[in-house]
Amino acid sequence: MTTLARYDAADDSHRALHVVQDDPAIDLAATQRAVADLLTALGRDPSSPHLRDTPQRVAATFAEMLTPTPFSMTTFPNDEGYDELVLAREIPFSSLCEHHLLPFSGVAHVGYLPADRIVGLSKLARVVRQFASDLQVQERLTTQVADFLQTTLRPHGVGVVVEAEHLCMSVRGVHAPGTRTVTSRLLGTLRVDPRLRQEFLALTRTAPGSALQ
Ligand code: ZN
Repeated sequence: MTTLARYDAADDSHRALHVVQDDPAIDLAATQRAVADLLTALGRDPSSPHLRDTPQRVAATFAEMLTPTPFSMTTFPNDEGYDELVLAREIPFSSLCEHHLLPFSGVAHVGYLPADRIVGLSKLARVVRQFASDLQVQERLTTQVADFLQTTLRPHGVGVVVEAEHLCMSVRGVHAPGTRTVTSRLLGTLRVDPRLRQEFLALTRTAPGSALQ
Protein backbone atom coordinates (compact mmCIF):
# COMPACT_ATOMS: atom_id res chain seq x y z
CA MET A 1 0.00 0.00 0.00
CA THR A 2 1.30 3.40 -0.94
CA THR A 3 0.49 6.55 0.93
CA LEU A 4 -0.38 9.36 -1.39
CA ALA A 5 -0.13 12.84 0.01
CA ARG A 6 -1.41 15.79 -1.90
CA TYR A 7 -1.30 19.40 -0.81
CA ASP A 8 -4.32 21.55 -1.36
CA ALA A 9 -3.73 24.70 -3.28
CA ALA A 10 -4.30 26.86 -0.25
CA ASP A 11 -2.51 29.74 1.37
CA ASP A 12 0.49 28.85 3.45
CA SER A 13 -1.16 29.64 6.79
CA HIS A 14 -3.60 26.75 6.62
CA ARG A 15 -2.16 23.93 4.64
CA ALA A 16 -4.20 20.78 4.20
CA LEU A 17 -2.52 17.62 3.07
CA HIS A 18 -5.04 15.04 1.92
CA VAL A 19 -3.88 11.63 2.96
CA VAL A 20 -5.38 8.81 0.99
CA GLN A 21 -4.14 5.31 0.39
CA ASP A 22 -3.52 3.75 -2.95
CA ASP A 23 -5.29 0.59 -1.81
CA PRO A 24 -5.40 -2.64 -3.63
CA ALA A 25 -9.14 -3.06 -4.19
CA ILE A 26 -10.75 -5.52 -1.80
CA ASP A 27 -12.91 -8.05 -3.64
CA LEU A 28 -15.60 -8.86 -1.06
CA ALA A 29 -17.21 -11.66 -3.05
CA ALA A 30 -13.86 -13.36 -3.65
CA THR A 31 -12.98 -12.93 0.03
CA GLN A 32 -16.25 -14.60 1.06
CA ARG A 33 -15.58 -17.52 -1.26
CA ALA A 34 -12.08 -17.86 0.11
CA VAL A 35 -13.36 -17.89 3.72
CA ALA A 36 -15.88 -20.59 2.80
CA ASP A 37 -13.05 -22.56 1.19
CA LEU A 38 -10.96 -22.08 4.30
CA LEU A 39 -13.75 -23.45 6.48
CA THR A 40 -14.05 -26.45 4.18
CA ALA A 41 -10.29 -26.96 4.27
CA LEU A 42 -10.45 -26.88 8.05
CA GLY A 43 -12.95 -29.73 7.93
CA ARG A 44 -15.97 -27.56 8.70
CA ASP A 45 -19.19 -27.29 6.75
CA PRO A 46 -19.70 -23.67 5.65
CA SER A 47 -23.35 -24.43 4.79
CA SER A 48 -24.22 -25.42 8.35
CA PRO A 49 -26.61 -23.03 10.14
CA HIS A 50 -23.88 -21.96 12.55
CA LEU A 51 -21.42 -21.00 9.82
CA ARG A 52 -23.73 -19.87 7.04
CA ASP A 53 -23.11 -16.15 7.59
CA THR A 54 -19.50 -16.48 8.67
CA PRO A 55 -17.85 -15.91 5.26
CA GLN A 56 -19.77 -12.68 4.81
CA ARG A 57 -18.92 -11.49 8.33
CA VAL A 58 -15.25 -12.36 8.03
CA ALA A 59 -14.98 -10.62 4.65
CA ALA A 60 -16.62 -7.49 6.06
CA THR A 61 -14.31 -7.57 9.08
CA PHE A 62 -11.14 -7.78 6.99
CA ALA A 63 -12.40 -5.10 4.64
CA GLU A 64 -13.05 -2.78 7.58
CA MET A 65 -9.67 -3.42 9.21
CA LEU A 66 -7.77 -2.93 5.96
CA THR A 67 -9.51 0.22 4.75
CA PRO A 68 -8.09 3.45 6.16
CA THR A 69 -10.25 6.53 6.45
CA PRO A 70 -8.92 9.41 4.34
CA PHE A 71 -8.22 12.59 6.27
CA SER A 72 -6.66 16.00 5.86
CA MET A 73 -3.31 16.54 7.54
CA THR A 74 -3.94 20.20 8.28
CA THR A 75 -0.84 22.05 9.41
CA PHE A 76 -0.40 25.60 10.66
CA PRO A 77 2.54 27.97 10.82
CA ASN A 78 4.25 27.88 14.20
CA ASP A 79 3.64 31.60 14.77
CA GLU A 80 4.23 31.44 18.51
CA GLY A 81 7.59 29.78 17.96
CA TYR A 82 6.65 26.89 20.23
CA ASP A 83 9.84 24.92 20.72
CA GLU A 84 9.02 22.26 23.29
CA LEU A 85 7.88 18.70 22.75
CA VAL A 86 4.35 18.08 21.52
CA LEU A 87 3.23 14.60 22.51
CA ALA A 88 0.02 12.64 22.04
CA ARG A 89 0.15 9.78 24.50
CA GLU A 90 -1.64 6.45 24.48
CA ILE A 91 -3.31 6.68 21.11
CA PRO A 92 -5.26 3.41 20.88
CA PHE A 93 -5.02 1.40 17.70
CA SER A 94 -5.51 -2.07 16.32
CA SER A 95 -3.91 -3.59 13.27
CA LEU A 96 -3.50 -6.94 11.54
CA CYS A 97 -0.32 -8.97 11.77
CA GLU A 98 0.73 -9.81 8.23
CA HIS A 99 2.27 -13.11 9.30
CA HIS A 100 -0.83 -14.66 10.89
CA LEU A 101 -3.73 -12.38 9.89
CA LEU A 102 -4.45 -12.00 13.60
CA PRO A 103 -4.95 -8.63 15.28
CA PHE A 104 -2.41 -6.83 17.38
CA SER A 105 -3.51 -3.84 19.39
CA GLY A 106 -2.20 -1.38 21.89
CA VAL A 107 -1.20 2.25 22.14
CA ALA A 108 1.12 4.60 20.32
CA HIS A 109 2.88 7.63 21.79
CA VAL A 110 3.61 10.14 19.06
CA GLY A 111 5.59 13.30 19.58
CA TYR A 112 7.50 15.92 17.67
CA LEU A 113 9.57 18.99 18.27
CA PRO A 114 8.08 21.72 16.09
CA ALA A 115 10.03 23.73 13.56
CA ASP A 116 8.10 25.98 11.17
CA ARG A 117 4.78 24.15 11.28
CA ILE A 118 2.50 22.52 13.83
CA VAL A 119 -0.38 20.11 13.36
CA GLY A 120 -3.72 19.53 15.09
CA LEU A 121 -3.28 16.94 17.84
CA SER A 122 -6.09 14.73 16.58
CA LYS A 123 -4.15 14.34 13.34
CA LEU A 124 -1.42 12.43 15.17
CA ALA A 125 -4.03 9.80 16.06
CA ARG A 126 -5.27 9.83 12.47
CA VAL A 127 -1.77 9.12 11.19
CA VAL A 128 -1.46 6.11 13.50
CA ARG A 129 -4.83 4.79 12.41
CA GLN A 130 -3.96 5.35 8.76
CA PHE A 131 -0.93 3.10 8.85
CA ALA A 132 -2.55 0.59 11.23
CA SER A 133 -5.29 -0.11 8.65
CA ASP A 134 -3.07 -2.48 6.75
CA LEU A 135 -1.41 -5.86 6.96
CA GLN A 136 1.42 -4.86 9.23
CA VAL A 137 4.29 -5.70 11.47
CA GLN A 138 4.72 -3.47 14.49
CA GLU A 139 8.21 -2.35 13.51
CA ARG A 140 7.04 -1.09 10.13
CA LEU A 141 3.99 0.62 11.59
CA THR A 142 6.27 2.51 14.00
CA THR A 143 8.64 3.54 11.23
CA GLN A 144 5.90 4.61 8.85
CA VAL A 145 4.25 6.91 11.40
CA ALA A 146 7.56 8.56 12.27
CA ASP A 147 8.75 8.93 8.69
CA PHE A 148 5.40 10.33 7.56
CA LEU A 149 5.51 13.05 10.23
CA GLN A 150 9.11 13.83 9.38
CA THR A 151 8.23 14.24 5.70
CA THR A 152 5.02 16.23 6.08
CA LEU A 153 5.87 18.45 9.09
CA ARG A 154 9.64 18.78 8.75
CA PRO A 155 9.99 19.21 12.51
CA HIS A 156 13.28 19.29 14.44
CA GLY A 157 12.58 15.82 15.72
CA VAL A 158 10.03 13.02 15.79
CA GLY A 159 9.50 10.27 18.35
CA VAL A 160 7.15 7.31 18.07
CA VAL A 161 6.80 4.53 20.65
CA VAL A 162 4.33 1.72 20.02
CA GLU A 163 3.32 -0.83 22.66
CA ALA A 164 1.11 -3.68 21.53
CA GLU A 165 -0.10 -7.14 22.41
CA HIS A 166 -0.14 -9.59 19.52
CA LEU A 167 -2.79 -12.29 19.43
CA CYS A 168 -0.36 -14.46 17.50
CA MET A 169 1.84 -14.44 20.62
CA SER A 170 -0.92 -14.81 23.18
CA VAL A 171 -3.24 -17.46 21.70
CA ARG A 172 -0.72 -19.62 19.86
CA GLY A 173 3.00 -20.28 19.63
CA VAL A 174 4.59 -19.17 22.89
CA HIS A 175 1.18 -18.57 24.51
CA ALA A 176 2.31 -15.46 26.31
CA PRO A 177 -0.81 -13.41 26.99
CA GLY A 178 -0.16 -9.98 28.42
CA THR A 179 3.25 -9.65 26.78
CA ARG A 180 3.59 -6.23 25.25
CA THR A 181 6.02 -5.61 22.47
CA VAL A 182 7.60 -2.17 22.44
CA THR A 183 9.05 -0.56 19.33
CA SER A 184 10.29 2.94 18.80
CA ARG A 185 11.67 5.26 16.19
CA LEU A 186 13.35 8.54 17.00
CA LEU A 187 14.39 11.00 14.33
CA GLY A 188 16.26 14.29 14.26
CA THR A 189 17.08 15.96 17.55
CA LEU A 190 15.06 13.38 19.48
CA ARG A 191 17.49 10.80 18.24
CA VAL A 192 20.76 12.63 18.66
CA ASP A 193 20.21 14.90 21.68
CA PRO A 194 20.42 12.78 24.85
CA ARG A 195 18.41 15.28 26.94
CA LEU A 196 15.52 15.43 24.48
CA ARG A 197 15.63 11.70 24.00
CA GLN A 198 15.41 11.14 27.75
CA GLU A 199 12.63 13.67 28.11
CA PHE A 200 10.59 12.07 25.36
CA LEU A 201 11.04 8.54 26.67
CA ALA A 202 10.23 9.66 30.22
CA LEU A 203 7.02 11.24 28.97
CA THR A 204 6.09 8.00 27.25
CA ARG A 205 6.99 6.16 30.47
CA THR A 206 9.10 3.77 28.51
CA ALA A 207 12.23 2.48 30.17
CA PRO A 208 15.33 3.98 28.53
CA GLY A 209 17.06 1.51 26.27
CA SER A 210 14.06 -0.74 25.71
CA ALA A 211 13.70 -1.78 22.11
CA LEU A 212 15.16 1.47 20.83
CA GLN A 213 16.11 1.75 17.21
ZN1 ZN B 1 1.78 -12.63 13.97
